[in-house]
Amino acid sequence: MIRDFVYSKAKTVKEALDLLEEHKENYKIICGGQSLLILMRQGLVAPANLIDIKSIEELSYINFKPKDGLKIGAATTHSDIEKSSSVKKHYPVLVSMEKNLASVQTRNWGTIGGNLAHGDPAGDPGPVFIALNATVKIANSERERSIPLEEFFIDYFETVLEDGELLLEVQFPVVPPRTATVYEKFNIIKNDQGIVSVAVSITMEKKGSSCKDARIVLGAAASIPIRAKKAEKLLIGQKLNNGLLEKIGKRASKEADPVADIHASEEYRRHLVEALTKRMVRKAWDQARKPAR
Ligand SMILES: Cc1cc2nc3c(=O)[nH]c(=O)nc-3n(C[C@H](O)[C@H](O)[C@H](O)COP(=O)(O)OP(=O)(O)OC[C@H]3O[C@@H](n4cnc5c(N)ncnc54)[C@H](O)[C@@H]3O)c2cc1C
Repeated sequence: MIRDFVYSKAKTVKEALDLLEEHKENYKIICGGQSLLILMRQGLVAPANLIDIKSIEELSYINFKPKDGLKIGAATTHSDIEKSSSVKKHYPVLVSMEKNLASVQTRNWGTIGGNLAHGDPAGDPGPVFIALNATVKIANSERERSIPLEEFFIDYFETVLEDGELLLEVQFPVVPPRTATVYEKFNIIKNDQGIVSVAVSITMEKKGSSCKDARIVLGAAASIPIRAKKAEKLLIGQKLNNGLLEKIGKRASKEADPVADIHASEEYRRHLVEALTKRMVRKAWDQARKPAR
């Protein structure tokens, strides 16, 4: 049963930040409610004040500029991202990720800010956004700060967001030439959260024969989305071959820190990390080498 609370609806970012300041730590922000309402119904969260930010128009936008990259407001829904033509053209991996995230109903209500702030290690956007080198903009009533998304997650369902802070925007840099970013999750029920997921971004050298830069990001393989940095190092400066691919998969599996739960054992998750990493590195490599980019 949901405990009584005082409901306030903010219409602007300033109004929301003033409300957060007024209620100190005794509140919860609600946007699409797709994650929060479940916790409230289970009695795991019982805020005295609920501050609704869903109607703040200045938090709902998708802006792409060729020189600046992509900016997405925190209250933008998954469906808006999925259907955006500029996202499809310049960051196609975001569209394919969104298409496989939850049901249409959840995508229509759930927002990108709510997904990240919820801090679920099995969330889909986290690994993909980190592979794309995203940054998040955060504000309280006195100041704004920006941090790489890689530093945003702290532990299971815990982020760097402090009392009084609102997530405002996710920013994606321009994708370098000869770069491909791919993502896949392994799940048993279609469009459910992944048992393990892997995002890989590869940038090729100018001549297109060796790897200039690589990001390998593992989801649901630790308490937060993590980069498999030792596996990345094996690839940077190299040409891919089957032997190297095997080593990268094994290294990523070692870097994972999974736990056993009702869905999978630790050992099975490590096996999935290895298999998905190899598959995603091969896919990103092949796409990045195509002359079109
Ligand atoms: C049936 C179902 C299936 C799902 N499947 C998937 C899946 O496959 N992959 C996946 O990634 N997710 C999945 N989800 C999770 C869901 O899509 C996301 O958690 C959703 O995007 C959350 O957004 P929201 O706006 O609904 O957040 P809310 O539920 O409103 O809020 C979630 C948390 O974020 C905080 N918050 C919200 N907005 C802000 C902000 N701007 N600043 C600071 N804090 C904020 C809230 O206080 C709360 O703690 C699923 C959910 C359901 C119900």
